[in-house]
Amino acid sequence: MGKEQDPLVIFRELLNLFEDYTKSGFKTQYGNISLTKPRNKPLDKKKRSLTLQEIALKIKNCTHCDLCFNRLNTVPGEGVFDPLVMIIGEGPGADEDKTGRPFVGRAGQYLDKWLKAINLIRFKNCYIGNIVKCRPPGNRDPKPEEINACFPYLEEQIKLIRPKAILTLGRISSQIMIGIQKGISSLRGGAYFYKDIPLVPTFHPSAVLRDSTLRKAVWEDIKLLRSILKQ
Ligand code: URA
Repeated sequence: MGKEQDPLVIFRELLNLFEDYTKSGFKTQYGNISLTKPRNKPLDKKKRSLTLQEIALKIKNCTHCDLCFNRLNTVPGEGVFDPLVMIIGEGPGADEDKTGRPFVGRAGQYLDKWLKAINLIRFKNCYIGNIVKCRPPGNRDPKPEEINACFPYLEEQIKLIRPKAILTLGRISSQIMIGIQKGISSLRGGAYFYKDIPLVPTFHPSAVLRDSTLRKAVWEDIKLLRSILKQ
């Protein structure tokens, strides 16, 4: 049973959130999110590409957590710079581990269909990545220490890639990127910010392949993403 929270503590937290919001937008564990801050001037694409390749090389040689012992390949991510959407999954599965590419298995093919419905295409206007870059054995959830070890790579990638919006897939990716420890059914259905980037969470395609009743909710989330991209 969870411990009940003191109503005074909850009230104080709400006041703090309100203050943060009025001063600078939303606050997450990763820092303040300004609703008005303009996007920085884009860096030179060649420089960005080199830096992104350097990150991929660091990931390839990474031994920061135990996932390095069982991987066949690291999966740094793929796509274009300045994409409309950066899609963030949880971690590579068996197919991704074999190929070194994100979302190439059954879930990935299904994801491609969701994206296509709103004119998003992997190498045209998307970047696809993951919270952890090495396959957790047996597709288990990545452990907190594995996520913490890998997250700096994703932070750096987002800074360089500069997506207009982020789509998070599933509970783990959504919790980490939003900074709220709730289930995906509670998190989805709205938009958040990661730093100054709008973010829409939805179910993981693998979950929807297992349970088709989730399809309606995913379509709502995808439409929300489309409306954000149109703004
Ligand atoms: N599931 C994920 O979360 N990421 C992948 O790359 C593939 C499947």
